[in-house]
Amino acid sequence: MKLLDGKFTSNQIKEEIAVEVADIKAKGGRAPHLAAILVGEDGASLTYVNSKVKACEKIGFDSTLVRLPADIKEEALLAEIEKLNNNEGLDGFIVQLPLPKHIDENKVIDAVHPDKDVDGFHPSNVGKMVLNQPTFLPATPMGIMELLKRYNIETSGKHCVVIGRSHIVGSPISILMARKTNPGNATVTLTHSRTKNLKEITLQADIIVIALGIPEYLTGDMVKEGAVVIDVGITRVADDTKKSGFKLYGDVKFDEVAEKSSFITPVPGGVGPMTIASLLMNTLDSYKRRN
Ligand code: NAD
Repeated sequence: MKLLDGKFTSNQIKEEIAVEVADIKAKGGRAPHLAAILVGEDGASLTYVNSKVKACEKIGFDSTLVRLPADIKEEALLAEIEKLNNNEGLDGFIVQLPLPKHIDENKVIDAVHPDKDVDGFHPSNVGKMVLNQPTFLPATPMGIMELLKRYNIETSGKHCVVIGRSHIVGSPISILMARKTNPGNATVTLTHSRTKNLKEITLQADIIVIALGIPEYLTGDMVKEGAVVIDVGITRVADDTKKSGFKLYGDVKFDEVAEKSSFITPVPGGVGPMTIASLLMNTLDSYKRRN
């Protein structure tokens, strides 16, 4: 078993970007600028947004965090988005999900200008992804593809089983893995809550991507010898022995599955840091398009 070390790889990517940013600044250019909108006080969302801001600082990007109250009206949030759309000094921004229930997530996703949509969630960018046109790819699936690429994992002709069909992970990773690209060219099976006999399907997988949100769901008996296993899940489970008061669990029963797999991502330190690295790559890409 070999670990797909997302922490190490994301640090490598950050170093590469930092070199480019230093070069831009040395030539008198402005720094790339990423902003994030955070609505409410959700602990996990705050942690994610803070890591994104910290990553920006580390590589020399400018960053802006817009914090809004949980009871903000939908129109007021849409107005904040419009401000960021029109801010010439900003290369991209994200609206941290999930949003409070009274806000229509689709309206928010539609409101972000596609050219600043570094999360790759806007329908126009999703369409371009499907058509294999240049665009911002959604950060988590993009991070998974980058990890596979940097570890030279063969995906062509392999059977990739994706578990979970969310718009932000399961669906787009199934599209990316099936595209005529490298990595890609896989034969993809997309499974979800209505799938029957999941174990029969996962046992046929050369590559498994699981984005479910159920701790340790994928067990050793569901995985074939030599499979590549990508664990996207992150669930906080209360744990008094931890300073934070919780422990993070992936969707994979790591010890059992690691024994059988050829490559596996850990949680934490796998897909999570790669998601942030992708966001930074998309922001740099946007900066270059705009300058
Ligand atoms: P989600 O919560 O929106 O949806 C879960 C999906 O799992 C659904 O499509 C559902 O059909 C499917 N599902 C539910 N039960 C199932 C079952 N028994 N068998 C097969 N499929 C089943 O998904 P999400 O937003 O993609 O999040 C999934 C997990 O990934 C969460 O733990 C989330 O925190 C994590 N996540 C991590 C990152 C990261 O950067 N590492 C990014 C996004 C999400």
